[in-house]
Amino acid sequence: ALLITQECINCDICPMECPNQAISMGADIYQIDVNRCTECVGHYDEPQCVACCPVDCIEPDPIHKETQEQLYDKFLALHS
Ligand code: SF4
Ligand code: SF4
Repeated sequence: ALLITQECINCDICPMECPNQAISMGADIYQIDVNRCTECVGHYDEPQCVACCPVDCIEPDPIHKETQEQLYDKFLALHS
């Protein structure tokens, strides 16, 4: 899964681009639900949130590293 850092300026763009509805407003900034983020595997060749973020504040989540296979399995589970 990916992670939104404190650099987020709450521009409201990325929630609309996520194919898994994984991004929502948190206490101060937007946050990514690790149970819904597939890093866009199954939908796109690259993470759509990273591609659209104007301040480049979305990074791999070091606590939730997943293989391509695990991410694809999550995609299948979310969209079955
Ligand atoms: Fe959503 Fe894809 Fe970003 Fe994960 S990488 S939060 S699935 S847009
Ligand atoms: Fe925050 Fe980037 Fe998403 Fe905008 S696109 S809400 S700056 S994470």
